Amino acid sequence: MKAAKDTVVTLHYDVSSDGGPTESSRQSEPMHVLLGRGQLIEGIENAIHGHEAGDTFKVELAPEDAYGERQENAVQQVPRESFPDAEQLQPGMPIMLSLKDGGQRVATVHEVGTTTVDIDMNHPMAGKHLDFDVELLEVREAVPAELEHGHVHGPDTPAH
Ligand code: ZN
Repeated sequence: MKAAKDTVVTLHYDVSSDGGPTESSRQSEPMHVLLGRGQLIEGIENAIHGHEAGDTFKVELAPEDAYGERQENAVQQVPRESFPDAEQLQPGMPIMLSLKDGGQRVATVHEVGTTTVDIDMNHPMAGKHLDFDVELLEVREAVPAELEHGHVHGPDTPAH
């Protein structure tokens, strides 16, 4: 069957940006994604639609179709004690921030000071062209409980 909204796809991907190092999902389990719920960046999701299990394909995304253009002046100073692992922080590292509304976002460590850490609120991939190689391993209908919850239930997912 073809990948479409409300199907569950299993995939592996390799991604590189502007000739930088390649990041691969192959170092761990493949990704399981319920399509149509904004779990993937839109450009990737659109490219997956219509493909079937066994397909491999390339997707090239401009920044506006991936993580957006970089915002200037997006550096914020955060007290160092907010980071239990401040010792390990390095400029350029991606960092997961917990937001007041309970959500999370990925930003980038800009500079680590003695009392504060400067965080660049841009996603590490902002402003970059991304080249994906996608291998679609499986496409199946979502079961009703998955559609209701808005996420994939794997064989190991406890009932909830
Ligand atoms: Zn669930």
